[in-house]
Amino acid sequence: CGIVGYVGSKQAQGVVIEGLRRLEYRGYDSAGVALVHDGAIASDKKSGKLANLEKAIAEHPLPPSTTGIGHTRWATHGAPTDRNAHPHLGQAQRLALVHNGIIENFAEIRAQLEAEGHELLSETDTEVAAHLIERELDKGVDLTAAMQAACRQMEGAFTLVAIDAQDPDRVVAARLNSPLVVGLGEGENFLGSDVAAFIEHTRDALELGQAQVVTLTRDGVSVTSFDGQPAEGTPFHVDWDLSA
Ligand code: GLU
Repeated sequence: CGIVGYVGSKQAQGVVIEGLRRLEYRGYDSAGVALVHDGAIASDKKSGKLANLEKAIAEHPLPPSTTGIGHTRWATHGAPTDRNAHPHLGQAQRLALVHNGIIENFAEIRAQLEAEGHELLSETDTEVAAHLIERELDKGVDLTAAMQAACRQMEGAFTLVAIDAQDPDRVVAARLNSPLVVGLGEGENFLGSDVAAFIEHTRDALELGQAQVVTLTRDGVSVTSFDGQPAEGTPFHVDWDLSA
């Protein structure tokens, strides 16, 4: 039930796991993280507490990376198992995706993907979206355009955050009837289900509107509609204190 994203110059793993810890109060049954390293996705995910994920990573460290995403899951489709935990990858493991919410028409999309030869490994609605976005990427567009195209095919309430192994300095997110805020840093930018995810790094934030896609690089943030038209979020400054 929590989402974190980071692109910048710090080690993403630490920023993402710390962000997930700050979102623990929302409740969850599984946790996971994915990073871009050397043209590939590195990821790990575990059911249960964040401590289970941290223990797994301590035993099998993830490679260094300054671009990453993280998730705490509240299962709606599929039991709270390691396999159903997020991130989910596309067919070629080029794309990694985390998701909060529900994709209502996932069964139709899944049937179509399977008819095309896609093999899905989990029972989640989320993995369907991962395959769908990666299929758009395979058409030769960038992650932003792939996210927009996939969002035009999905119904429901969702926050999605994705990374592309072939585009190491970009994190792309989308929001429809589900929360998502951007944290604006200097030479780094953040995503979170709420500001708790990044407040120790920046208090300058941007609230996305509904049916918007946001692209983060180290140096900038740009917002569009699902149709790819330029759009704007609502900037705000967090001047209240969160109790830790
Ligand atoms: N529907 C997705 C799942 O069951 C996401 C649940 C969530 O919001 O954490 O995996």
